[in-house]
Amino acid sequence: MSARSLLKGMAPVAARYTGASSVIARRYRGRGTIFMLHSVVDDAAFYPDRTLRCPVSSLERILRWLRANKIDIISLDDAIDRIDAPSTARFAVLTFDDGYADALTHALPLMERFRAPFVVYVTTGMMTGNIDAWWLGLAELIRRQDMVELSDLGLQFDCRDEARKVNTFVDIERMIHTDYSVLQHVKAAVASQGIDCGGLAKREAMTVEDLRQLAAHPLATVGAHGCTHANLAMASASAARWEMEESRRLLEDAVQKPILHFAYPFGNARACGPREAELARASGYRSAVTTRSGSIFPQHRDHLHALPREALSRLDTSSTLRCKVDGFYRAGHSRLGDPVAAM
Ligand SMILES: [Zn+2]
Repeated sequence: MSARSLLKGMAPVAARYTGASSVIARRYRGRGTIFMLHSVVDDAAFYPDRTLRCPVSSLERILRWLRANKIDIISLDDAIDRIDAPSTARFAVLTFDDGYADALTHALPLMERFRAPFVVYVTTGMMTGNIDAWWLGLAELIRRQDMVELSDLGLQFDCRDEARKVNTFVDIERMIHTDYSVLQHVKAAVASQGIDCGGLAKREAMTVEDLRQLAAHPLATVGAHGCTHANLAMASASAARWEMEESRRLLEDAVQKPILHFAYPFGNARACGPREAELARASGYRSAVTTRSGSIFPQHRDHLHALPREALSRLDTSSTLRCKVDGFYRAGHSRLGDPVAAM
């Protein structure tokens, strides 16, 4: 375990026992929090890419915690309106990335029960299969095999049980996000087993009819997440702009409503920066979200295309949720620096 992940794991515990959370919260809590999820799944189902799969019961627990803590769950447009409004209750916005069909089958019934608005950021390539969904291929590779080898890198991963499969996915995903040159070796390993990543994406994606149904729902907002889920910071400016504009055009054609919000694929510092924020603004989006950790502050009025989010997962407890809404992770990542996460 790295020092950073150890620190991250210890943070909620430390905060709970030292009361540090309340001190940090005064500076880092902001007006509200935008939360990020991906797929919502049955409680008993096993997925190697567990970090992207939130069981229904975990989502229910999260929603109950937000309600119990008197945090308003509101739409993204309402949150933007509230950013610099005179003091109002704290808010949470729930967002689901990529466009999994389970947004309708698993998330929606729960969101309806809690009368909780939400955003689904759709990668249009999920529906067509024209998407670089290497993470789904990697999960399938790990699911199938007892051992995953990245022979060019001299690496072997033991995947003989569920716990090891989950750890392997986390380790390889982290390696890719640290050094993108690893990705070509992962893709080669996936392809060598005849795994079709685009086909896997299509199998899990919403259909166009699902999308229309979602867009017509009063609680749901559909946002764009690019066409192919490319890392935009690594693409040319024209390709990045095309991803933003074409995904918006395709979604607007499908749902016959304006698409005003964008989520940068991967969303970390290696995947989006000031250039992408400017492109999103110039493309006409009202807002764009990253995956940088942090709360929403009045200063974000000037950074609507660089809004941070906190990731949610099955592992969240009342203390990690408290740390997330109090900006504890932003405090840690910034080493007690600027509370306002931007590009
Ligand atoms: Zn995504």
